[in-house]
Amino acid sequence: NRPEKPFVELQNVTFSYEDDDRKILQALNFQVYPGEQVTLSGRTGAGKSTVFKLLLGLYQPGEGKVLIQGRDAFQIPENEKRSLYGYVEQWFHPVPGTVRDQITLYDDTITEGQVRRAAELAGLAEAIGTLPEGFDTPCTPDIFSQGQWQLLSIARAVAADPKLLLLDEITANLDAETERAVLRALKRAAADRTVLSISHRVGADTGRLIPIGEES
Ligand code: ATP
Ligand code: MG
Repeated sequence: NRPEKPFVELQNVTFSYEDDDRKILQALNFQVYPGEQVTLSGRTGAGKSTVFKLLLGLYQPGEGKVLIQGRDAFQIPENEKRSLYGYVEQWFHPVPGTVRDQITLYDDTITEGQVRRAAELAGLAEAIGTLPEGFDTPCTPDIFSQGQWQLLSIARAVAADPKLLLLDEITANLDAETERAVLRALKRAAADRTVLSISHRVGADTGRLIPIGEES
């Protein structure tokens, strides 16, 4: 008996990849309410990243419903997605261009103020300030450390100020010190947002755990 409606809801979702008989997800149900921070947990191959792919509208479920704010995730238009949710993966995927382009992805509806706030929130403003041309610096592999690239992923994800974050093992490849920097940025990014994180380290994260696949 919660007053508000779920931000994210899976109703009886069954899913198989094309040309594959295996049911990756079977009758999966969960709700995540506005402002909640939850962790999807489960062994490797359980289907955690698949749940995100369904939320991103990359696939449709075989049965059941995948809903974001009550809307079918698959029907959400591309141009609404960035302001609805931010998605961060294990690795940063660069695009050709400047530091600013990494954050905006060439979307000129993202204002200069949003770019700066995103960089600030990710904890990258100072590092960008020391680059020869700041946000206009062309991106080459040597301008940032591995952890800073991951912080740039966070800046990109929050640039359009989405209220939902989908985080898939985002600290998996980082050393302990860099992981702490990313976790600090995430703490800022998570404020006033609904956050779904994926981890296979059960108990390593805070917040409610949603088991995916059979209970381990
Ligand atoms: P991990 O913890 O290793 O990241 P996961 O829980 O995220 O695992 P998924 O990536 O969702 O698991 O994969 C679930 C199952 O679906 C695995 O058996 C995987 O091999 C399979 N799978 C994933 N993507 C595809 C695809 N595009 N086509 C076919 N099978 C796939
Ligand atoms: Mg995965």
